[in-house]
Amino acid sequence: MKTIKEANIYNKSVIIRFDYNVPVENGKIMDDTRIISSLKTLNYVLKSAKKVIILSHMGRVKDEEDKKKYSLKIVCDYLSKLIDKKIAFCDYTNVEETINNNEIIMMENTRFFDLDNNKESNSDEELSKYFASFGDIFINDAFGTCHRNNASNVGISKFLPSYNGFLVEEEINNLDKLLDNVKRPYTVIMGGAKVSDKLKVINNLIEKVDYLIISGGMAYTFLKVKGYNIGKSICEDEYIDYAKKLIKNYSDKIVLIEDNYIEDKSIKNIEEMDDNNIGYDIGPKTIECYKEIINKSKTVFYNGPMGLFEKGYEYGTKEILKLLNDSKAFVVIGGGDTVSAVNKYQKENHFTISTGGGASLEYLEGKKLPGVFL
Ligand code: AMP
Repeated sequence: MKTIKEANIYNKSVIIRFDYNVPVENGKIMDDTRIISSLKTLNYVLKSAKKVIILSHMGRVKDEEDKKKYSLKIVCDYLSKLIDKKIAFCDYTNVEETINNNEIIMMENTRFFDLDNNKESNSDEELSKYFASFGDIFINDAFGTCHRNNASNVGISKFLPSYNGFLVEEEINNLDKLLDNVKRPYTVIMGGAKVSDKLKVINNLIEKVDYLIISGGMAYTFLKVKGYNIGKSICEDEYIDYAKKLIKNYSDKIVLIEDNYIEDKSIKNIEEMDDNNIGYDIGPKTIECYKEIINKSKTVFYNGPMGLFEKGYEYGTKEILKLLNDSKAFVVIGGGDTVSAVNKYQKENHFTISTGGGASLEYLEGKKLPGVFL
């Protein structure tokens, strides 16, 4: 990876692409994690560069109305207070003048250009060149969009010497610990509702892991293959064949669930389920079984809630997070739902949180990310 430390930024105008796609409600930033995690790269560049020009997207911009909803001005003001420095905001009018007369400039949401033939999202060449004209060097530190080929993160890199920032470097280094020279035993825990979303990650990791815990809603497709009556629990019949093959080839690695909380919140062993039962969360026997595996693991990747935690079936997710936090393993947590469960139930933790969502999963699928410069 071409990292920021290799970049000669001294006295240069440095364009940095961050991921400031933060949730905003009633004019307030509800979660500033992404802003905070940009500070390391920003402060490093500010120390020696002549100028910093910040690019970012926010939300999906489909019509003029969205422009009001997704202006980055709010992030500009927030960041300016945070670093105690003036940041000029530029809505793409008087660009040259604004850049010439200021040291730190934040450009308006790059996705506003999507209103013109999706130029940002389609990595339009002219737009990429235009973004590149703002400075001398480009740093991409927007890990969350590294899997997308957009004008402001990948297109621009064709026209300038380009490097990755500290956040991208850290995220990739952490994910690499799940892919190469992994400390064993290595356990991957997959939960959530859908098999379809996780299939490619499973395919890429299955050869590397010692244990693959398939849990949460997606376990029922596999339990059905094993001949259990899963009643009306969530099941993706189109993945039955896939589940069959996986169980046949890797029966020594795959761990499913032994008991579950059902619709009336009572606990039932899997072999006792009837036609009308619905499994909504894993039970205490299952947790005991996972505990044994987690306690001997040195590396764990966890993605997807163990149950319908938003609707009161939070036991399994809470317990698994406790187990993981008590373990001495290197634990990486990925996925939007799982990260919100961590924030809800296990805020104090030693986890490595992979903030990338789609980007993290695509990397774990074995794909090359276009926003990571090699
Ligand atoms: P996914 O997007 O596939 O990771 O699924 C996440 C969702 O799966 C969360 O909203 C959970 O509430 C849901 N989920 C987890 N376990 C179950 C289950 N046993 N039945 C139904 N939904 C579940």
